[in-house]
Amino acid sequence: MVISPLELRWRRAKRLVAGGYVHPQGDDGAFVVSSQAGAKGGPGYRVGVAMENGRLVRASCTCPDFSKQMAGPGVPLLHGVRVCKHILAAASVELLIDEFFTGAR
Ligand SMILES: [Zn+2]
Repeated sequence: MVISPLELRWRRAKRLVAGGYVHPQGDDGAFVVSSQAGAKGGPGYRVGVAMENGRLVRASCTCPDFSKQMAGPGVPLLHGVRVCKHILAAASVELLIDEFFTGAR
């Protein structure tokens, strides 16, 4: 079975979220996502995500995967935005927090 670049990163992102590697830094869409080899809360990559109505509109990450990606057919896009596994993980948590909080009001 062939896995798309986006699907591959979704699978890895799920492990990051489930494993507690995603650490929100305040309430402006900033996160630190621990590198998989590191301990929880250890060194990681800085991730920024901006969501509008449940969709990703802007994203950045300091990891090599995101830095080296150029435009092309192999580049994973979500909602037209270039992503890596850290961005997907952070966006999932951001959305979860937003929806839960909105639902609670
Ligand atoms: Zn990344």
